[in-house]
Amino acid sequence: VKKQGKNGHLFYTPDFDVQLLENIEIERDLRKAIERKELMVYYQPQFHSESNRMIGVEALVRWNHPTKGLLSPGVFIPIAEETGLIYEIGTWVLREACRQMKQWHDGGGPLIPVSVNLSSHQFHQRNLVQYIKNILEETKLAPHFLELEITESMMMDPAVSISILHELNKIGTRISLDDFGTGYSSLSYLKKFPIHKLKIDRSFITDLSRNENDKAIVATIISMAKHLKLDVIAEGIETKDQLDILTENHCKEIQGYYYSRPLSANEVEQVFFMPIRT
Ligand code: C2E
Ligand code: CA
Ligand code: CA
Ligand code: CA
Repeated sequence: VKKQGKNGHLFYTPDFDVQLLENIEIERDLRKAIERKELMVYYQPQFHSESNRMIGVEALVRWNHPTKGLLSPGVFIPIAEETGLIYEIGTWVLREACRQMKQWHDGGGPLIPVSVNLSSHQFHQRNLVQYIKNILEETKLAPHFLELEITESMMMDPAVSISILHELNKIGTRISLDDFGTGYSSLSYLKKFPIHKLKIDRSFITDLSRNENDKAIVATIISMAKHLKLDVIAEGIETKDQLDILTENHCKEIQGYYYSRPLSANEVEQVFFMPIRT
C-alpha cells in the first residue's frame, strides 16, 4: 500500500509494507511457536583438525513454521529480541540443548560440550545465573559441558559484564567470546574477562586464502589467544585451503561446512555417533 504524503511524496515503499506485515505475522506466530513445539535445536559439530575427532557442538535454533517452512534464526531472533520473546525462547533452547547433550552422554555418545548462544537481553537478565543453575540441575548435565557464547557487544559495561561472568564461572559453565574481532573490544579488558575461548568470526575466514590482511588478523588473534591462555576456535571453514592456513597457524579447533552443516539431533546421531538407542 502506498500512501500520498502532504507534499505529494510517497512515503511507504511497497517492499517496506511487505516486510512489516511479514514481521507482524512472525511476531504473532512466534508467541505460539514454543507451545506448539515448532522450535527445534540444530547442532553443528566442531572438530579437532589433527585427530578429526568431534570436540563439541554448537546449538543453533530453527523454527519449523507451519506455512513458511524451516526459518533461520536471522529471521526471527531479532524480532524475538524486540518483543521480549527472546527470554522464553532462550530458556527453551538452553534447556533443550542441555537435555539433548545429557541424553547423548547417557546413551554412549561422545562426552563433548554443547555451546549455546546468549542474546544480549538474556545476558543482562537479572536471574540469568539462577535459571542456568536450575536448568543444569533439572537436566543433570555437568556444568563444564555447557559453554555459553557471548559477544563483545554485550560487554559495553565491562564492570557489570565481569561480575556476571564471574558468577557464571562459579557455577562451572564455560564461556566463549563469539564473532571475535567484529565488535569493539578493548584488549586491556580482554585479559580481565574470565572467559575460556575466542571464536574467530567467519568474516576473517571467507577470503583467508586470498587476503593477506585477513591472514595477518587471524594469525594475530590465534597468537594472542595463546598468550592469554585462551582456547581458540575458527568458524565458517568451508575449504581445505582455509583449513590448511589455520592449521599452519596452530588453530586446531574448527567449525564450518567443510566438516558439517548444522544438523538435527537425529542426523547428528546417524552421521556421527555409533548406533545408540535413545
Ligand atoms: P553465530 O552464533 O555466529 O552462528 C554461526 C552461524 O554460521 C550459523 O548460522 C551457522 O549455520 C553458520 N555457519 C556455520 N558454518 C558455516 C560455514 O562454513 N559457512 C557459512 N556460510 N555459514 C556457516 P545460523 O544457524 O543461521 O545462525 C545465525 C545466528 O543466529 C547465529 O550466529 C547466532 O547469532 C543466532 N542464533 C542462532 N541460534 C540462537 C539461539 O539459540 N539464541 C540466540 N540468542 N541466537 C541464536
Ligand atoms: Ca555462536
Ligand atoms: Ca559466531
Ligand atoms: Ca555471527
